[in-house]
Amino acid sequence: MALNGKINTAVQYTDETDWLQKLTLSGFGLGLLLIFLSGFQSAGEKKFMFSGIVVGITALLVYFLRTYFKNQPGVKNNGIWLRASTSRGTIAWVIGIFLTGFYVTLYWWPDLMIGLIRSIDPLSFWLRGIAADRWFLYGTFYTLAVLIMGIRALLKYRHSPYQIIRTLSVMFFQLVLAYLIPYFLILLNQPEFYLSYFWPLKYDYLFPGTADYLIKTPGALGVFFLFWTAVISLIGVPVLTYFFGKRWYCSWVCGCGGLAETAGDPYRHLSDKSRAAWRWEVAIIYPILGFIVLTTLLLWLNSIMGGGLLGRLSNEFSQTYGFFIGSIFSGVIGVGFYPIMGSRVWCRFGCPMAAYLGILQKHFSRFRITTNGGQCISCGNCSTYCEMGIDVRWYAQQGQPIIRASCVGCGMCATVCPRGVLNLENGPREGRYQPTALISPESLRILS
Ligand code: SF4
Ligand code: SF4
Repeated sequence: MALNGKINTAVQYTDETDWLQKLTLSGFGLGLLLIFLSGFQSAGEKKFMFSGIVVGITALLVYFLRTYFKNQPGVKNNGIWLRASTSRGTIAWVIGIFLTGFYVTLYWWPDLMIGLIRSIDPLSFWLRGIAADRWFLYGTFYTLAVLIMGIRALLKYRHSPYQIIRTLSVMFFQLVLAYLIPYFLILLNQPEFYLSYFWPLKYDYLFPGTADYLIKTPGALGVFFLFWTAVISLIGVPVLTYFFGKRWYCSWVCGCGGLAETAGDPYRHLSDKSRAAWRWEVAIIYPILGFIVLTTLLLWLNSIMGGGLLGRLSNEFSQTYGFFIGSIFSGVIGVGFYPIMGSRVWCRFGCPMAAYLGILQKHFSRFRITTNGGQCISCGNCSTYCEMGIDVRWYAQQGQPIIRASCVGCGMCATVCPRGVLNLENGPREGRYQPTALISPESLRILS
């Protein structure tokens, strides 16, 4: 609208939250308060913890049902850049500081959480046969977040079969392979083993110390786990990535990706699309992968030489990595900064598995996103909602296929595209970089 000869660019956002949504959000707040209160006594307050979880989950589910069934199926991201919670506003900073504080306390001052940990003892005894610890508390909240926000994603993207199946997949892998099975193994006096995490993400799974521990575990399960992790990490990952790209892991199996795709969905548009961000990405993620590969090789060499190569240094290697990358990067920054930096900060800048899969995807895979460039209206939805900061529109405008190491194959660019321009495909490697016949860089140059 022109006002006094000037263009008024201010956009109005009308809050459409109704009374039921407000009521259920209040219920969620009450649930959080009860969970918080359960930690006040060092012995914990079990009733508060479990009633808080039940009240919070019920309220959130009703809120999501009300929110997404108010409208027809389809992508509706109205006001996402105008709401304080999703546009780095005050609410986003409050959530970010709360999440970051939770991680800092969990890693470095777990004693402050002793009441919360004791409150969840009954569930831990039931699942694992032992008392809860901070990692059980964390695993339970993490899994609940993936499941509840997974239901939100199922409702929000209910028009897209790809998003439905992918969301169900991450929910299944988190609940069964990354929560129930490892804890059931503890109940059976077996090693706590996560079948959905592989080297180099779970870097110590191929360290000689872990191999030695698994081999010496009574029964055949330890040997099976060692076999599983070696075969999947060194053979399964390249083979599956050849056929499906890195999406088979990053967007369908991995717990970190699972959290990003569910709890992180409201923040996916916050990813940095600048060239500088891409330079940082390349400068950080590949050295981290190199560090893991080198550490693993050195530790094996050291083990073969009976400890003569590294001596006490061998422990310090993995401890240093565990502190700076495992704790600070993947937890505190990776999840704590969701509302500020987007949902895939860890996957994009820090994860050695993403780097490994990315190299395979770029150079040895059949995966690509094809673009029917002639249909593109340059709306930019695809670039906006790419959580990995890829400027998808640039490729679409030129009809070029998107073959990028960082693409996690979430499919969101295709889901939000109003023109059906983008398609995730596993095709023959021949002609993989071929632009669509309708449009090519040459034809663009003729027009210019
Ligand atoms: S390019 Fe598309 S599929 Fe790949 S990460 Fe970005 S949004 Fe997901
Ligand atoms: S969302 Fe579709 S139409 Fe819009 S810029 Fe991307 S490819 Fe083009």
